[in-house]
Amino acid sequence: MNWVFWGFLGIMAFWLFQEFAGSGAEGTGVAYSAFRQQVDSGNVVSVTVRGDRIEGVFAKPVAQVSSGDTTQVTTFVTFVPSFGDRSLLDLLEHRHVTVTTLPPTDNSWLNLLLLTVVPLLLVGAFVLYSMRRQAGAARSFFAIGRSGARRYHREASATTFEDVGGSAGAKRELGEIVDFLKDPSRFHRLGAEVPKGVLLMGPPGTGKTLLARAVAGEANVSFFIITGSDFMEMFVGIGAKRVRDLFQEAKKAAPSIIFIDELDSIGRHRGAGLGGGHDEREQTLNQLLSELDGFEPTHNVIVMAATNRPDILDPALLRPGRFDRRITVDLPSSEERVEILRLHARTMPLDPDLDLAPVARGTPGFSGADLKNLLNEAALAAARRNDDHIRARDLDAARDRILMGLEREGLALTERELQLLAYHEGGHAVVAASLPNTDPVHKVTIIPRGRAMGGTHQLPERDHYLWSREDLMARLAMMLGGRTAEELVFHTVTSGAEDDLQKATNLARQMVLHWGMSPALGPFAASGRPAQVFLGEEIARRPEHSEATAQKVDQEIRRILDEASDMAVRTLESHRGALDAVARLLLEKEEITGAEVVATLTAA
Ligand code: ATP
Repeated sequence: MNWVFWGFLGIMAFWLFQEFAGSGAEGTGVAYSAFRQQVDSGNVVSVTVRGDRIEGVFAKPVAQVSSGDTTQVTTFVTFVPSFGDRSLLDLLEHRHVTVTTLPPTDNSWLNLLLLTVVPLLLVGAFVLYSMRRQAGAARSFFAIGRSGARRYHREASATTFEDVGGSAGAKRELGEIVDFLKDPSRFHRLGAEVPKGVLLMGPPGTGKTLLARAVAGEANVSFFIITGSDFMEMFVGIGAKRVRDLFQEAKKAAPSIIFIDELDSIGRHRGAGLGGGHDEREQTLNQLLSELDGFEPTHNVIVMAATNRPDILDPALLRPGRFDRRITVDLPSSEERVEILRLHARTMPLDPDLDLAPVARGTPGFSGADLKNLLNEAALAAARRNDDHIRARDLDAARDRILMGLEREGLALTERELQLLAYHEGGHAVVAASLPNTDPVHKVTIIPRGRAMGGTHQLPERDHYLWSREDLMARLAMMLGGRTAEELVFHTVTSGAEDDLQKATNLARQMVLHWGMSPALGPFAASGRPAQVFLGEEIARRPEHSEATAQKVDQEIRRILDEASDMAVRTLESHRGALDAVARLLLEKEEITGAEVVATLTAA
């Protein structure tokens, strides 16, 4: 619309210029009466008349005073009054003044053009433009259903398996898909059917999207990526149309990969949940199912999808011929974490002496995305220090920041609160360091961070996959160690143990309800599915055990917690000297290492 604006501005400028030029710069303006007087006195030689404008030359210069200055005027300009002056021509003739008349303006045709035709043209163009815009809006309204798949061309997906750390199993499985996409005839010759649908399952941030991209990159094929929720629109039927469009486009670009992220957002159980289901979602899912059925193996299109809730997917999606190849992408193990850290640190200036293995050991449960974030936080910490290398302490600080939140400053604690805190953390640390079956203590701190007032951190020497009853009891004793120390030393308990108690109770409940670790209940699991499924089903689910069993479960949870608490009391009583020493050290330094805790234990 800019050009219309500029067109108008141009015309206005031209018009103003004309007016300005018309007001005459070629003579000094004089009053009409003064002009007439000069004519009368015979001092005017000649005049040129253009419309109501009169320019002329005086025989002798006339003195004119304006704003205090006197100027001598020879050429002048004046205007005939609007009421006219019929006697002027007679007067001029009488005084033998040479009179020249000119048409009002020389470029009148241009004026006419600019002031009449061009504005008309501009208005016409504006109307046309508005009409087109409206038509465009209407067209885009009907185009809502066109698939919003972003298409990655062959050259765009440069990701390969080299960019994915760990996940050896997934890479091996996906290698077969790459082979098929590269040379389908090898498989067709033997009558083998390659899966059409591959479902990547795993917690968030474990690299499912990355793996799908890597398959496209390795096989050098087109890659279409869409998120399940992108299919959804407020109009019923749009999702189904998008699915159709997406498959059509992918078939055109074959060999290709369609990647549907968050498949669970369209692919959950039909007819489940509150309200009996969602029309639009179900239609979209039905369309997806029929597209999966509809294309032939010869189409060379592989559909990959990712979800972190495979349990809620509609069984129809998982049957053979659809997403029948399921690959679990789990959280990385300690060795895999080293690999991922190395991958992401490729472009970062790490301290040459930095060993990434302890960093990987100290980050159990971190996904690939978390590890990438950890390195980034460490780089930020190093930059803040103006260092040109990322060092171990940056990674340590980054880990604390991610796990526990930012340090809270300006928290005014009283002397007694600090003592309670030091003994609380000291209690956790001493129990953890002195009981067998526990992970080594890494760091103890009473610096408040996030919601926590302090913390005792352990570093597992390796990833745990199985926990024995003894391991879990020691863990419970460690969790209750803080509260026990408060009771032992100050004969009171504080609200600081809230989080510990919650975690300990949850763990004890898991032991009784899911892992059959209560002798009183024996080999019994209350529910086959520990995690909650989703809203409607959770409400509808009936308790799977009797009231009497529920009572027994509660008793057993209490008994386990009491047992763990006794274990903590016994440990702290027998290491009271070490507990005092650790608390003293904490009050002095605020943060101490696991080695310092061990040293106090051996010294005491
Ligand atoms: P979501 O389920 O939330 O969609 P996702 O499993 O698809 O997550 P990605 O989006 O692939 O996870 O991973 C996020 C980022 O984490 C990646 O871009 C990558 O930088 C990093 N990442 C995750 N896993 C790995 C890995 N195994 N190796 C290297 N980088 C990884």
